[in-house]
Amino acid sequence: MHILQVAVAAPAHSDLPPTLSYTSERTLAIGSLVRVSLGKREVLGIVWGDGESNENPKLKAIEGALGEIAPLNAAWRALIQFSARYYQRSLGEVALAALPPQLRELDALQLAKRMKRKPKEDTGSDEKANATNSVALSAEQSLAIEKFFSEKKAAQPALLFGSTGSGKTEVYLRSVARVLAEDETAQVLIMVPEINLTPQLQSRFTERFAAEQIATMHSGMTPAQRLKAWLLAHSGQARIILGTRMSIFASMPNLRLIVVDEEHDASYKSQDGARHSARDLAVMRAKLETEHNEKPCNVMLGSATPSLETWQACEAGRYQRLEMPSRIGNALLPKLKLADMRLPPRGTLFAPQLIAVLQERIARGEQSLVFLNRRGYAPVLACDACGWKCECPHCSAYRVFHKSDRTLRCHHCGHTERVPRACPECGNMDIQPVGRGTQKIEEQLAVALGEDAKRPDGSPIIIRRIDADTTKHKGELEAQLAQVHAGDVDVLVGTQMITKGHDFRRITLVAAIDADAALFSSDFRAPERLFALLMQAAGRAGRDAGSAASQMWVQTRHPDHPLFAALAKHDYAGFAKQQLKERTQAQLPPFSYQALLRAEARTQVVAQAFLQAAQEAAGDLAGEQVVAFPPVPMSMQRVADVERAQMLLESPSRVALQNFLSQWLPQLRALRSLPQCKGLIRFAVDVDPLLI
Ligand code: ADP
Ligand code: ZN
Ligand code: ZN
Repeated sequence: MHILQVAVAAPAHSDLPPTLSYTSERTLAIGSLVRVSLGKREVLGIVWGDGESNENPKLKAIEGALGEIAPLNAAWRALIQFSARYYQRSLGEVALAALPPQLRELDALQLAKRMKRKPKEDTGSDEKANATNSVALSAEQSLAIEKFFSEKKAAQPALLFGSTGSGKTEVYLRSVARVLAEDETAQVLIMVPEINLTPQLQSRFTERFAAEQIATMHSGMTPAQRLKAWLLAHSGQARIILGTRMSIFASMPNLRLIVVDEEHDASYKSQDGARHSARDLAVMRAKLETEHNEKPCNVMLGSATPSLETWQACEAGRYQRLEMPSRIGNALLPKLKLADMRLPPRGTLFAPQLIAVLQERIARGEQSLVFLNRRGYAPVLACDACGWKCECPHCSAYRVFHKSDRTLRCHHCGHTERVPRACPECGNMDIQPVGRGTQKIEEQLAVALGEDAKRPDGSPIIIRRIDADTTKHKGELEAQLAQVHAGDVDVLVGTQMITKGHDFRRITLVAAIDADAALFSSDFRAPERLFALLMQAAGRAGRDAGSAASQMWVQTRHPDHPLFAALAKHDYAGFAKQQLKERTQAQLPPFSYQALLRAEARTQVVAQAFLQAAQEAAGDLAGEQVVAFPPVPMSMQRVADVERAQMLLESPSRVALQNFLSQWLPQLRALRSLPQCKGLIRFAVDVDPLLI
């Protein structure tokens, strides 16, 4: 009798140990998939270790092994182990969530059938000559690739810091081609923020690597498609895996290269489950693959506006920086124009100058892009008359306006006050949330542009809105983008989704309707996100060298804000320097480490009482290195009748915070039985939260 330690899906901080023991008649390799009974159910498990073969009559035997599927390798298991420990989840929860759902549901016979289906026909070795490297690389592209493959210390992560339109995709393609050519078993992983937003990237990979099996992985796929893609990657048949954040956990036995495109994008951070950062895990995975396999695995993070975490890692010499400052064909970046919204009457949606330039562009047959970025910002109150804003007296943060109880609360230190009746500075009675706007921008723009605006051929202008509503159905986004590319649209209106990644050739003007909500947000990362958003948006304009006069317009009541000065110079480095200075002074990430404990309950009082009790439980554990701030309601305080509260934990030391969390969290389950915690629904921790 052999004893196996098996990881099964069990929530963190349940009473179950990390792995459960089962017996097996024959030995099974570590990493093998098995079916075991757990309570009354039969579930999928992963063999995580083996024990001595001592007879224990209480142990159950495994129900069966999925012998058709090769064991998950050591590097993959190390990634899971790291992820579970770092994000404070149970091993089984992370491991099983990383597998395609159908693997958990299908029986051995069904699986065997799936695996027999032949993937893409092998087109024969003649045609397998993939890389039709038609374009000649620019000097900057060549240099970046050379540096990436030569100068690096073993598996040092690299940041491809390339302007919008500098040709980062071509660098990815060539790097992939090189890795695949050097080793016929090599696999590569290309991660993108949102698969629907980057159909161009996907098609460029499928065109360039026509002879390769490419597996895509994203949440829009059916369970059957996900299983198929997973099996292709796991068996090594797919050498290119293209996916969103979920693909970081794909099993790839010969992984040699990971590319993270638009590495600054917030969608790499998952907002449920273990709340991992796929970008951070990509860096860790490359390290673990290198340690566990014979050949190294490299990682390339690409962005024109890197996250400050990544930028700081370059500054500190931990990451290698590959720079591509020029745009392909020497196209110029657009010129920044600020429309001072203090000048027109209050409530004006579009500055008159902006309308005038839009009309000019339309008359010349050029396209414009107008976007609103009002999603996801916690409301901050401001006085239009004197410029007062609801700053926290104790922190360099704005307090969040909580409508339900009309309070202003600091999400950093917890300081709370009732909303003042009038502006504390000037007595103005009309204090309002920053960033009022409209959903009806499309209609209002048509009105503002007026009847007179005509296309060069005299026909009426065409305004097209692209946002989550107009692209709900499959293929809609592609169809709408095709219209833009074909020149059938004069003004493209949308949310920030249209500002990312698209290679628009004819757009010469981009306008941000309302930047101020992000300028004065309670979230210390808001300026970083705004800068990235505006740079990316600007990057959609003037991608053809011919369009020398491209412009980026920003409507703001704060034209003197230093962020705009840096933006005008397209000076990411300068902006990063100034932000990092502020972050050092305030001891904020990347110079400190954070975690959020969130609680959901029937009432706000209970949610906060639980956090309060948790804070008391922290007691001596926290030591001097970890600070637990008081509980506050979340900015989205109430969702579907559930009250939500959160508590911030901060430490200058990542290790100290990790140690603290791993000792503290297991104690919290017991607090549920306290009388004041009756009505608690759930709690969870978010390590390295992006929104606080
Ligand atoms: P980025 O991702 O850096 O914003 P892209 O990869 O979208 O830039 O490249 C911008 C444009 O330049 C694309 O249309 C691409 O096909 C083109 N391009 C890239 N590299 C070259 C090259 N070496 N020669 C000619 N065109 C190129
Ligand atoms: Zn005032
Ligand atoms: Zn405060």
